[in-house]
Order: sequence, then C-alpha cells, then structure tokens
Amino acid sequence: MTGNVAAAKAALAHLDIEKSDTAIKAKSRDFFWYSPVLKARLDDVIADFVISPRSEDEVIEVLKVCYEHDVPVTTRGAGTGNYGQAMPLAGGCVMHLQHLNKVKHVEPGRVICEPGILLKDLDAVCIEKAAHELRMFSSTWATASVGGFIAGGSGGVGSCTWGSLRDLGNIIRLRVVTMEAEPRVLEFRGEELARVSHAYGTNGIITELELPLAPAYDWVEMFVAFDDFTPAMEFAEDLANQDGILIKLATVFEAPITHDYFQRVRPHVEPGTNLVGLLVAPQSMDGFETFTARRPGARVIYRSDDHDWPKAPGRVFEYGWNHTTLRALKVDPSITYLQVRYGFPKHRELVEKMRSEFSPEVLQHLEVLRENGKVMFAGLSLVKFTTEERLDEIVRLHEEAGAMIFNPHRYTLEEGGRQTVDDRQLRFKREADPKGLLNPGKMIAWDDPDWAYDRMYAYPGLKAAE
Ligand code: FAD
Repeated sequence: MTGNVAAAKAALAHLDIEKSDTAIKAKSRDFFWYSPVLKARLDDVIADFVISPRSEDEVIEVLKVCYEHDVPVTTRGAGTGNYGQAMPLAGGCVMHLQHLNKVKHVEPGRVICEPGILLKDLDAVCIEKAAHELRMFSSTWATASVGGFIAGGSGGVGSCTWGSLRDLGNIIRLRVVTMEAEPRVLEFRGEELARVSHAYGTNGIITELELPLAPAYDWVEMFVAFDDFTPAMEFAEDLANQDGILIKLATVFEAPITHDYFQRVRPHVEPGTNLVGLLVAPQSMDGFETFTARRPGARVIYRSDDHDWPKAPGRVFEYGWNHTTLRALKVDPSITYLQVRYGFPKHRELVEKMRSEFSPEVLQHLEVLRENGKVMFAGLSLVKFTTEERLDEIVRLHEEAGAMIFNPHRYTLEEGGRQTVDDRQLRFKREADPKGLLNPGKMIAWDDPDWAYDRMYAYPGLKAAE
C-alpha cells in the first residue's frame, strides 16, 4: 500500500528530504531488536523516503501530499521505542520531527513545547527558566523526544511519585494534526487526550504539547545493597510510602543482575547482592538516612554527592527502566524481557511467586510505581530467551497467576497493551485518518475488527526491503 511514492516525493522535494540510503535505513528502525520475536519479523522493514519538516505548516504539507498520493506516513521522534512503533511496516514516508524542537513557554508548573525536542534539552530549559523540571521521563531522557514519549511511552523516572502518563493531570494539552485531504489542527484536553496519547501516531500527529512540571532538585542518586531480595523489595516500596521523603526513582534488581551486567557496579557488589537504585531529593536525605538506619542489612554503597568509586557509574536512572535490559543485552545477547504489572495489594506476593517459579531463567527487575495513590510494582523482568514457545509459556503463566503482561514482543497497540481495542483511539482514527495511512499495521482493530487474539498478529501489508 505504498501509493504513488514518486509523485509524493517530487511534490515534497523542496523540504528536508534524507538523501543517504544508509540514513533512510537507520531512520526506519527503532529498538525493536530488544525482542528476538520482533527482530525475526521486522529486520528488513524500510521506508521509501524520510522527510524532516521544519514547522507545523510543513507537517500539514507532508500529510496533505501523502494523503493525495495514498502514501503511508510513520512519525519518528528519536526512534528509541522498543516495539517497532516507529517502523514503517508498509514502507512509504517516515516523517522525522527532529526540527520541531522549540520551547514556546515555561512558567513554574507548566511548559509548552514542540514534540521533537529531546527530554534532556526540555528539562534543561525548564530548570534554567523556571527552576522546574519534568515530573517524569523515560530513562532514555538523553536520547528520546518528548513527542515520542507521549505517543509511545508509558512513564518512567518520576512515576514512583507522579504515576503514569495516562493518569489525569500528567498531560495538560496536545495539539494534533489529522491526515485528510485538508488536514485539521485540533486541540485536546481532559477526556480527549486518551485519543492520541500512547496511540503510536496512528491517528494524528502531535505538534505541540503542554505538560505539568514539578520543582527541580539536585537529586541524590544512590545504590543501596542487600543480601536478600525480599528486604530489598520491601525497602523500595516502604521508602516510596514515606509521606515526608521525596523520591524520583526506586528500582530493585535481583541478584546477580548488578554483578553480571553493570560493569561499573560490579567491583562493588557480590554475585548475591540485590540492589536498590534511588533518586532522593537533597532535603529528604536526613529522613532517608534515618529510614535506612532502621533497616537491618541495608548498605548505601554509592551516593552521587559523596563517593570514592574510581569510576563513577553515571546516572543511576540509566540503570533502571529499560536501560536494565539494554545493559544486560550488551553482556549477554540472549537476554530479553517482559513488562509486568504487579498490581496492589497482591504485588509483593505475586513477585515472590513468579520469582520462586522462574528465577534464574527470569530475574526480577522492579520499578516502584504509584497507581491511584497506591504504591505497587512495574516489572521489567530479564528473561533468558530460549524459544518463542517458551517465552509465550512464561507470559501465559504470569497471566494465569494474576500478573498482567504488556507484551513487548508484539508491534500492535492492542497486543502490547490490554489485548483489547481502545475504542476512543479507533473512533478518532476513523475521523482523522480515513484512508488508514498513519503508521499502518499497528492497530489491529482498524485492519481486522474480528481478530480473536489467539495468536500473534501478522500485518498482511508488511513490506520488506527488496
Ligand atoms: P519514537 O520511538 O520515535 O516514537 C514512539 C512512537 O510515537 C512511535 O509510534 C511514533 O510513530 C510515535 N510518535 C513520535 N512522535 C510523535 C508525534 N509527534 N505525534 C504522534 N506520534 C508520534 N519508555 C518509557 O515509557 N519509559 C522508560 O523509562 C523507557 N526506557 C527506555 C530505555 C531504553 C534503553 C529504550 C531503548 C527504550 C525505553 N523506553 C521507555 C521506550 C522509549 O524510549 C520511550 O517510549 C521514548 O520516550 C520514545 O521516544 P522517541 O522520541 O524515541 O519516540
């Protein structure tokens, strides 16, 4: 379904079009290769052309021209997504939003910006202009765009205090362009935000965002060691439940993750060490030290403001969230992962159950998460991959035990989510993308409304490199 690519390309030739074939290939890929299942299916996916609009007007022009010539458009922020979200399964145009990187307004508590700015650059402007910072960010803070985070991410560093992106109040407003003969520019707030946030750009392109901010701190980043897993897990949860102590990250790593996969941490731990990674506000350090002194066996082995490690580990949050998987993969390419929701109030029980059933084939990596005011865990468990059948079996056994899986080995919104159609996103796609040209193959409900979810969906329009 690539339409008349040559005509679209010619009509857009005056814009910033990528000329190098190597760059076109690179910009057709994301971090899909984290999954051996996706790697086997998407490795040859490639766009026909890549274009980088410089303004909202140019975004509208790209969408209008591609609509006219029936050319699919897949939007790219920075391409750090893990599920092939930013990959053009049907070929066509990759629209790279790297030039839409302006910050339009900052005040304490609020920022208005364009989608292509990197999270770290956005944070820097907010801190400089208003002494405020993003409430939450993906651990790819240094490399990912804010638009890609809202359209493809879920939460991250900060979610232990502020919840997830989908929670009310964590996005204020989105400005969205539709893909029609005459693209419309719409403004979404409140209930309408769910139409396009976490929709992988399948039903509209975000050209402006308004996000809430929190006061900025010089966070103290730490590693706390434990000999046993259970006290480490309890420490992380109980710390997040301390009302007077402000934290931005609490991550739990089951042994031997930190010893085997974190090269700069390895000299400071034993194979049996379980570690908790933390970001604590400086004014909370007195409370934190008192809290930690009450926990037998808890040892602070690293703090960013006072340490004697010859090689500093870098940012502690770059060991958490999906950076844990990245670090493990670099050492052992057979590692992959799962995304698990260990919901309150059975979260601890479920983690222990999965651990006793699967460790060491599956190692627990937990992120403390707040949901509806309750502290619980998101698991980004490390899995020693053997076969797709075994991976599916591990997923099934988690689900049967009551641990919800967001399957990172699938490229559709539904299979990576709650296995059901999001009606709000589907209805909006009918209005905003009547030809189905935006990021094709990612919304099963659009392609095949009767799909039974009894096996992995395979997009019939998948176009591989010739
Ligand atoms: P891309 O990968 O370019 O795009 C993501 C999706 O959004 C795609 O479907 C794309 O088409 C769509 N999109 C991009 N821009 C727009 C737009 N303006 N309008 C409409 N659609 C758009 N994710 C988390 O949520 N939390 C984490 O902590 C986290 N940690 C990670 C760690 C590593 C090491 C890696 C590799 C990934 C991690 N991820 C995490 C996944 C990913 O990095 C984040 O979701 C990231 O914020 C995506 O941003 P991006 O700019 O790279 O988006």
